[in-house]
Amino acid sequence: MLHPEALQTLRSVFGYEAFKGHQEAIIQHICQGGDALVLMPTAAGKSLCYQLPALLLEGVGIVISPLIALMQDQVSALHQLGINAAFLNSTLTLEQVQTTENALLKGEIDLLYIAPERLVTAHTQWLLSQLKICLFAIDEAHCVSHWGHDFRADYLQLSILSQRFPNVPRIALTATADPRTRDEIINRLSLGSAKQFISSFDRPNIRYRIIEKQQSRQQLLSFIKHEHPKDSGIVYCLSRRKVEETTAWLVQQGFKALCYHAGLSHELRQHNQHQFLMEDSIIIVATIAFGMGIDKPNVRFVAHLDLPKSIEAYYQETGRAGRDGLPANAWLSYGLHDVMTLKQILASSNADEQHKRIELAKLDAMLALCETVHCRRQLLLNYFGEQREQACGNCDTCLQEVATWDGSLAAQQALSAIYRCGQRFGVIYLIAVLLGKTDERIQQNGHHLLTIFGIGQKLSEHQWRSVFRQLIARGLVVMDMERHGALRLDVSCRPVLRGEQSLILRQDNKASKNKVQRTQKLQNLADQDSELWEALRTKRRQLAEQQDVPPYIIFNDLTLYEMIEKRPTSSRQFANLTGVGERKLALYGDEFLSVIADFT
Ligand code: ADP
Ligand code: ZN
Repeated sequence: MLHPEALQTLRSVFGYEAFKGHQEAIIQHICQGGDALVLMPTAAGKSLCYQLPALLLEGVGIVISPLIALMQDQVSALHQLGINAAFLNSTLTLEQVQTTENALLKGEIDLLYIAPERLVTAHTQWLLSQLKICLFAIDEAHCVSHWGHDFRADYLQLSILSQRFPNVPRIALTATADPRTRDEIINRLSLGSAKQFISSFDRPNIRYRIIEKQQSRQQLLSFIKHEHPKDSGIVYCLSRRKVEETTAWLVQQGFKALCYHAGLSHELRQHNQHQFLMEDSIIIVATIAFGMGIDKPNVRFVAHLDLPKSIEAYYQETGRAGRDGLPANAWLSYGLHDVMTLKQILASSNADEQHKRIELAKLDAMLALCETVHCRRQLLLNYFGEQREQACGNCDTCLQEVATWDGSLAAQQALSAIYRCGQRFGVIYLIAVLLGKTDERIQQNGHHLLTIFGIGQKLSEHQWRSVFRQLIARGLVVMDMERHGALRLDVSCRPVLRGEQSLILRQDNKASKNKVQRTQKLQNLADQDSELWEALRTKRRQLAEQQDVPPYIIFNDLTLYEMIEKRPTSSRQFANLTGVGERKLALYGDEFLSVIADFT
């Protein structure tokens, strides 16, 4: 049985009408004293799974979270809901720590956020022994795993919780889908008997789009101008230098853009990240150093100017878009040059051979995603072990059928060129041979005498690049970084080379790619109600500035959209909007109602 007050609290405190996904089952399980392992993708609503039980049950809920920088925001957001929450971490003064500890001892706190390294100190253990604790929530539980990318040694010590507090329910949460990580969480946190709640990892509101890189800056500019002129977004680049150059260029084009990479001072990084959270229309250009703990819910696009090194990285980075569940875009431009660069980085790294092989396989999977003619989401989810029978309808290949052509002959010609030239040359050289260019190097090597010299003049250089890319993505051809990107044949290419197997290829052309429709909800709004939208955003920004909190902590975009859609005229109607609980109604209802009234 669900706790009798669960639904009532969901509505009055959080302002949500109903539970999402597994939330209800998880909350019921925790309230009955069970342990739980919760795997949900970003934005599925993990935090409610421990916040609500902490309100329903007697005592304080302890939340272990690795990100000190985020605690302040998380706690501010709870205060906005009228929840007694606090945090303990190294940013507090001694006096602030005292105040919080006293409040805890008096039983005045419902939710306490704490960093793992602090939790295991003798003092905190003493403090906890004095408290009535209703649950432990271990957020970002994948940090306990060596296998994952965010390993934190402090997390290993969390195993003491099950020994010291055997009767307190524990709930571990993560957005990492990988089965190996899951097993490690269970082992290291002694969650063997915990009930597992595993959700689909799909992010249906994110629209995936991968285009062929041509003039990537211009392509990016056109994407942002047409689809996200006033939105916040993240642009990922591979190198620090490119980050800086791209930022400067976007600023020149009239956008508010800031950069973020590991080469900047700590202060500047903090400052830029803070600005990004605080403002509504801002672009951050970053290396992959940026991301952990970016909880900004209204990131409307994530653009990659360079190829991510694996599907895991791509999924994690694009996953920072659309946390509020509203339509968002994941946009990537990629070319053969990216593949070379990543392979070069890998080849020159100090990692052992086995590790390199794994990384190469991951890059190949990423390439296959780029070159697929099928639904991208299906491929992504299948990669993570989730079988999905139907195409999604919300990725570029679904929205616009990919034109294909019979590339068997071209493939045969490309493969023989590689072979005839001794498997010692890269794409540019091979294309020159196929096109019959009179190049000094070709003459010196005598390759102008080969039968395949000039055999490929029916295709343009651009089309040949596409052919080579697809041969590489399908594993028929291997790019050898020890030989400066020289191409050689893989045994699997034989049937194609001999003409025994036909090969259907993607047709890459410039025009078709940009026609993908804009994400619907935003489009409609931009046309009809943009003035009200701007007025609501201004009101939200003013309220946020008064309290020095990010705007989305007042209301997220979804609530603003509902204001436009439903045009509430009374407090009662306002209370029905998603995200409006009793406290926010009292604090902000009238302010927003009067803005809406001006437009009705
Ligand atoms: P996660 O931690 O899984 O990334 P959050 O807990 O931040 O996700 O929640 C994601 C979004 O979903 C937030 O905007 C939150 O307000 C919203 N949300 C959570 N639960 C519900 C619900 N039951 N109904 C409506 N919105 C919800
Ligand atoms: Zn699709």
